[in-house]
Amino acid sequence: MAIGDELVGGFTLDTNSHWMAERLRMLGYPVKRATQIRDRPQEIVEQLRRELDDAEITDVFVSGGLGPTPDDRTFAALATALGKELMIWEETRARIERRVQRMHSMGLLESPDVTEGNLRMARIPAGPSHVFKNRRGMAPGGLYEANGKRIFVLPGVPLEMKGIFTEELEPQFLAAGSAATVRELRFTFAVEARFYPLMRELEEQFPDVSVGSYPNFETKELVIRCVGLDPKRVEAALDVIRKRAPV
Ligand code: ATP
Repeated sequence: MAIGDELVGGFTLDTNSHWMAERLRMLGYPVKRATQIRDRPQEIVEQLRRELDDAEITDVFVSGGLGPTPDDRTFAALATALGKELMIWEETRARIERRVQRMHSMGLLESPDVTEGNLRMARIPAGPSHVFKNRRGMAPGGLYEANGKRIFVLPGVPLEMKGIFTEELEPQFLAAGSAATVRELRFTFAVEARFYPLMRELEEQFPDVSVGSYPNFETKELVIRCVGLDPKRVEAALDVIRKRAPV
């Protein structure tokens, strides 16, 4: 779930969702859906509830809207969705204070005092299971648990999101997954429509392997991609395609 008017409005490309989907797939946590939501508290709450009600998913990843400006509302919306109060997280407040003082001593900030905007970033829903530090910025990330699911909340700035994800979140919370096998076949000048009957057949024969076709108009290649948990089954599906491809 990527939050920000700039994403939905077409100003900024949602690279966070793309990056996370790739990492999560490689870590063995395939993504069911990726959504972009505007900075409207009600819409964020609605989407969070939808995710929490979905019996098929175990983890929710949220990025964006944790900053110091009034349009950053993710934690307030999460508090509403979880029925929790917002509270100042002392450890984060102290980190922000140290950071502001350091920036002041370097001449980057006029005042050494923590502003209301700075303090907003330390305000998070009560009862986190874990608070991520964020070595590259002020806004913390958080982990909450509800409905038997984990909700990971991360900052929107790509560098900060990736830093927390790879340094703090992955080693501690995503080490138990087993990654799917991904194999691809490429056919030059192949007509995608002619693969339709074979793809239908594969769907029935290999319900445990997801087979997709992706034409690349620049290279004039048709990529057939097979993804599945059992490498042998993925290889078997690939064999059928090799033998029967209508090229
Ligand atoms: P911080 O607390 O560090 O300010 P934040 O959580 O408030 O971060 P946003 O205010 O939502 O983050 O966004 C900060 C910057 O990161 C903006 O320039 C925004 O365009 C960019 N950004 C936010 N979300 C994404 C995303 N999903 N993909 C790419 N860039 C993003």
